[in-house]
Amino acid sequence: MWGGPRSDESRGSSMSDEPRFLSEVTVELVRQSAADSDVLWAARVSTAGEQSLEELTKDPERSKGLINFLMRDRHGSPFEHNSMTFFVSAPILVFREFQRHRVGWSYNEESGRYRELRPIFYVPGADRPLVQQGKPGRYEFHAGSDEQHKLVSEAMESSYRRAYEAYQEMLEAGVAREVARAVLPVGTYSTMYATCNARSLMHFLSLRTKDEQARVPSFPQYEIELVARRMEALWAELMPLTHAAFVANGRTAP
Ligand SMILES: Cc1cc2nc3c(=O)[nH]c(=O)nc-3n(C[C@H](O)[C@H](O)[C@H](O)COP(=O)(O)OP(=O)(O)OC[C@H]3O[C@@H](n4cnc5c(N)ncnc54)[C@H](O)[C@@H]3O)c2cc1C
Repeated sequence: MWGGPRSDESRGSSMSDEPRFLSEVTVELVRQSAADSDVLWAARVSTAGEQSLEELTKDPERSKGLINFLMRDRHGSPFEHNSMTFFVSAPILVFREFQRHRVGWSYNEESGRYRELRPIFYVPGADRPLVQQGKPGRYEFHAGSDEQHKLVSEAMESSYRRAYEAYQEMLEAGVAREVARAVLPVGTYSTMYATCNARSLMHFLSLRTKDEQARVPSFPQYEIELVARRMEALWAELMPLTHAAFVANGRTAP
């Protein structure tokens, strides 16, 4: 945030803030200009007589074929003439991985300097596999036992509570937010806007989803895959032909 704190964000520290523990991530599509016709338009720009949207939608099979050809032969630039902005709420550990995606992505994340961070923390849900086996880069994950889930929940919750108390203690004593936040763990929830186009989203999806149809397998962390899968579902509704071609061509970005 650049403009200084808003009134609801500049409240003083409040010892009454009870920590909340979540297992979910949230992804909303807040703004978009993205359709299969954008791809067709860009690809056909040099072809005389085919520059109206009417022309583009006249022959659906031809449109489908063209998108598939562009995907298969990795003509990537026609997939860049569109835009999607997502609002994501997830633990900081997800954002650390997410923001490694540099090309075709823009990010703005909530500030721990301008606002007091809320006590919302990640605790894995019952579906989250807990046991890791195998070699680095090819780990397999298996369900945890009830005891392991109990241990994880209790250990995380008590650790989060202690960290947040220390954070509050420092704020109460007048320590700057940017200093006090150092004690907060990567399981703390944050929020960001992330803007991309279909090409950069496909590259992200190819790396951050594990899928049998992928030509090149990837082994992403469960939590970032939750975000990726939600983005994929929202994008597939906007650009169904492009999404289908992405899947049919091994989930590789063109
Ligand atoms: C399963 C998994 C495990 C990972 N483990 C680790 C890890 O242990 N440690 C770690 O540090 N990272 C790790 N990463 C992050 C990974 O190395 C990449 O930083 C991340 O996936 C972003 O990919 P990218 O660079 O292709 O994306 P982008 O930054 O979006 O780049 C897109 C493409 O642009 C081109 N490009 C971008 N920048 C350059 C450049 N400077 N020079 C040349 N070409 C460029 C490349 O073709 C690149 O694929 C992991 C990622 C995954 C998916």
